[in-house]
Amino acid sequence: MTYATDEEKQEAHRLSAKKSYLKNRKKYIKYAKKYAEEHKEDRKKYYENNKQKLKDNSNKRYTCECGSEGRMGDSTRHKRSKKHKIFEAHKLIYSI
Ligand SMILES: [Zn+2]
Repeated sequence: MTYATDEEKQEAHRLSAKKSYLKNRKKYIKYAKKYAEEHKEDRKKYYENNKQKLKDNSNKRYTCECGSEGRMGDSTRHKRSKKHKIFEAHKLIYSI
């Protein structure tokens, strides 16, 4: 298949990946659970060895594209916040 633009190609790829994920969702979740269970000790060890590094990284300050400042560790929660969602909506509306 040929696409007019790179964006079109990316979008098509994204949609097909999503479709495949939804189709095989149960399998992926089962695999992820199995992997997590099998590597429990490794993950624990990694955390113990890198505790300070992980904490430092989590406490690092960052500035979001919406103008908010916060800790790295809170960035995922911030992305779900009302303030950030409103910014995203504005970005979408005014970029068209
Ligand atoms: Zn933000």
